[in-house]
Amino acid sequence: MNEFATHEVFNQSPPFEDVNLFTTDRALMEAVNREGGGSAVRRLTAFGEVCGSAAAFERGRLANEHPPRLKPFDSKGHRLDVVEFHPAYHECMGVSVAEGLHCSSWDHLAGGKPVPGANVARSAGCYMAIQMEAGHQCPITMTNAAVPTLRLQPEIAQAWLPKVLARVYDKSFRPASAKRGATIGMGMTEKQGGTDVRANTTKAVPAAGGGPGAEYILTGHKWFMSAPMCDAFLVLAQAPKGLSCFLMPRFLPDGSVNALHFQRLKEKLGNRSNASSEVEFRGAHAWLIGEEGRGVPGIIEMVTGTRLDCAVASAGLMRLVLANAVHHCRHRTVFQKKLADQPLMGQVLADLALDAEAATALAFRLSRSFDRASDPHAAAWRRLMTPVTKYWICKLAPAFAYEAMECLGGNGYIEDGVAARVYRELPVNAIWEGSGNVMALDLLRVLQREPETVEIVMDDLAATAGGDTHLKAHLARVHRLLHEPRFLEQRGRALTESLATLAAGTILRAHAPASVADAFIATRLAGAPRQTYGHGLDGVDTRAIIERALPA
Ligand SMILES: Cc1cc2nc3c(=O)[nH]c(=O)nc-3n(C[C@H](O)[C@H](O)[C@H](O)COP(=O)(O)OP(=O)(O)OC[C@H]3O[C@@H](n4cnc5c(N)ncnc54)[C@H](O)[C@@H]3O)c2cc1C
Repeated sequence: MNEFATHEVFNQSPPFEDVNLFTTDRALMEAVNREGGGSAVRRLTAFGEVCGSAAAFERGRLANEHPPRLKPFDSKGHRLDVVEFHPAYHECMGVSVAEGLHCSSWDHLAGGKPVPGANVARSAGCYMAIQMEAGHQCPITMTNAAVPTLRLQPEIAQAWLPKVLARVYDKSFRPASAKRGATIGMGMTEKQGGTDVRANTTKAVPAAGGGPGAEYILTGHKWFMSAPMCDAFLVLAQAPKGLSCFLMPRFLPDGSVNALHFQRLKEKLGNRSNASSEVEFRGAHAWLIGEEGRGVPGIIEMVTGTRLDCAVASAGLMRLVLANAVHHCRHRTVFQKKLADQPLMGQVLADLALDAEAATALAFRLSRSFDRASDPHAAAWRRLMTPVTKYWICKLAPAFAYEAMECLGGNGYIEDGVAARVYRELPVNAIWEGSGNVMALDLLRVLQREPETVEIVMDDLAATAGGDTHLKAHLARVHRLLHEPRFLEQRGRALTESLATLAAGTILRAHAPASVADAFIATRLAGAPRQTYGHGLDGVDTRAIIERALPA
């Protein structure tokens, strides 16, 4: 009803829903085609319709307004250790699993041929599913990323991969052997250290002889272990020969519940639909993956996959808040003019659109490098640019979301809309799976241990930068930073950020319309230093940039 006794409701923007999240996103469509995911376009078009529907956004709202609850005991005091989710959360999981987002990087392992562009296509699906609802993407990401670690132990892979690769979401709490589909989580972080996992104190004792694939008994804790209703977890623990990687299922082979005792769920700033537990392992059974003492190399492939997903997720959420802001400003009149037509708002929206497109371009360029691991150029990009891309996009996104929220005025700050939720969600992508400094240090590790990897990427960037004078000057700056050994660690962030903006500018120069590439390069790689959005685009065709960001 638009009529009240005292007033009429007018000049409010209609809800941003029932939009196709694929076909309305030119930067995404072009990135998918450019980076090798073209064969998935029909499927992605259909999925874009699903994720942008009013029903999908409503699911996302409900899953977050009714966060999961831990049920440690039953009514008679027996241990239960289960987490209850709102049905909307399970629906989100069902949508993403049916689309294969929890496994489709590995579809070829199910007996088929390698799918060209599988990672690019999957990233596009995740980029849209996260706009529907962000929290459920945690187990989706972890399950897909767990596959290379599971494969290190053939008998474990044989037992678990068929369940992981099935596109069936089964929320029931029963042994994975009785289920058609399974999800996998990860437990590394302990109270005394998350980054420094070598400080893990959880002890693993061989149940019999020990060794790869053997059963161990784990005693200790994890301070963060998300998605605790996953069917199994890859966990790190100290075995007799050092930190090792284990698969810990929720149920034991005899059908009894494994000794994972959840202490409580975290009260989080955002990511509320997802449960993140504190857990004790009280003699929990787990099976060794690889050799004892090789825990970090064992789990690192999983971590690399999740870092890609963090970047993709933040890019997707940036697009969602930007689209909401542009949509609102096109409908809202202030001082007899639509907000989108106010010159200063044009600066803000276009400026935001530049970072959204740059983030999308960089995230999908990185996704392509996961598809072409046998190509040395792609392998170099994957190694070097995974931490760089994760760092830059995930760090940019919270400030971006704040600015987009402000475009919506007071409504942006209110929980009825998506902007507030997205704003609370975004910092976690920078914190987990390697926080900002850790990403910068990882870049320095590549520089010190594999300088040839850095050279390959820099040569590729130089070749693509062409004659653009700003890009060439920036390239020279990055070279200077790379080859200046003094204060290298202190300059880790400067180097990471410079490399990210160089790569983004180079991709936009080669592939985006000139209005976007010129403005991005002029403001991010040259020009006056800036700390906020909405300036530096004098004389730029902001309308064209905004129209590209969200066609009217
Ligand atoms: C919502 C949520 C869910 C999570 N889910 C999981 C999960 O499922 N499984 C799991 O294992 N973990 C999970 N985590 C934990 C997360 O991965 C860690 O919090 C993260 O890795 C950081 O570890 P920490 O909290 O121990 O911080 P620390 O390791 O103490 O780091 C604190 C800060 O110091 C910085 N830092 C670290 N080393 C250096 C250095 N050498 N030089 C300079 N700076 C440095 C880091 O960048 C960080 O900013 C989750 C966290 C959150 C918030």
